[in-house]
Amino acid sequence: MNLFTRLFRQRKKTPLDKMKMNISPDQAAKMLHMIQNTQNVELTCDDVHGLLDQYTEMAIRGEDVVGLLPLVLYHLDMCPDCREEYEALSRILHAV
Ligand SMILES: [Zn+2]
Repeated sequence: MNLFTRLFRQRKKTPLDKMKMNISPDQAAKMLHMIQNTQNVELTCDDVHGLLDQYTEMAIRGEDVVGLLPLVLYHLDMCPDCREEYEALSRILHAV
């Protein structure tokens, strides 16, 4: 069982959660599986850049990015470069 499957099983889903979620656990699991094939659990800056658009849009829509993309959040916490990128993207998307 991969990390994403575990995370999805741990989460208690409410009907509201289901309405807000626009990527399925299956898609998310595939996405993470792809990432995990190239490395262990931590994401590289390249991985984060690849997910950042989606992550930022989800965050702006108030979706559960912590539950869905915890590894991105974790990376942003540790990596000032990616955090800067995220903040810039967030400003741009907020301005639209
Ligand atoms: Zn980074």
